[in-house]
Amino acid sequence: FTEEQQNEDYLFKIVLIGDSSVGKSNLLARFAKNEFYPNSKSTIGVEFQTQKIDIGGKEVKAQIWDTAGQERFRAVTSAYYRGAVGALIVYDISRRQTFDSIGRWLNELHSHSDMNVVTILIGNKSDLKDAREVPTTEGKALAESQNLFFMETSALDSTNVSAAFQTVVKEIYNILS
Ligand code: GDP
Ligand code: MG
Repeated sequence: FTEEQQNEDYLFKIVLIGDSSVGKSNLLARFAKNEFYPNSKSTIGVEFQTQKIDIGGKEVKAQIWDTAGQERFRAVTSAYYRGAVGALIVYDISRRQTFDSIGRWLNELHSHSDMNVVTILIGNKSDLKDAREVPTTEGKALAESQNLFFMETSALDSTNVSAAFQTVVKEIYNILS
């Protein structure tokens, strides 16, 4: 972490990455606005939301970036990653293919940002119990082997959404303070 980031009065840039349609935009919408879009379409251009988070009485701002759909074209730019101190790498527990992509996303993250970026692996759509293709134990094992935090979430029913973002922000805060 650079001096500049520390002096920024605790504004943490956090990026959302992972395959198309795993629920990145809905995780952010649920966290920032408590909204959910059953048929969300990817939007154009890079967007972020700034969210205030209380960490033991201290106010921290998380600036959370959403890919806005460019991951479909394998073209998430280096500007997207620049200055990130946290990352959520998301897959869909009902689509194994999105879990198989995690290694590629990790490589991309590490080639564009600091190795110390606080990262959590997210298995989203935990509400889709009957369609599950990736067991919880597999997600957990991958996270452990790569030194990542791990959580299963549902942007639909809200399970663990705040907890996931808070885990990342808390850890960044702990590292910096
Ligand atoms: P993105 O491309 O990764 O940003 O994915 P979106 O947030 O646009 O979501 C893709 C689709 O999955 C949309 O139809 C969402 O309504 C749906 N979706 C997102 N999160 C969940 C979830 O937790 N559970 C279920 N069942 N559907 C979800
Ligand atoms: Mg999206």
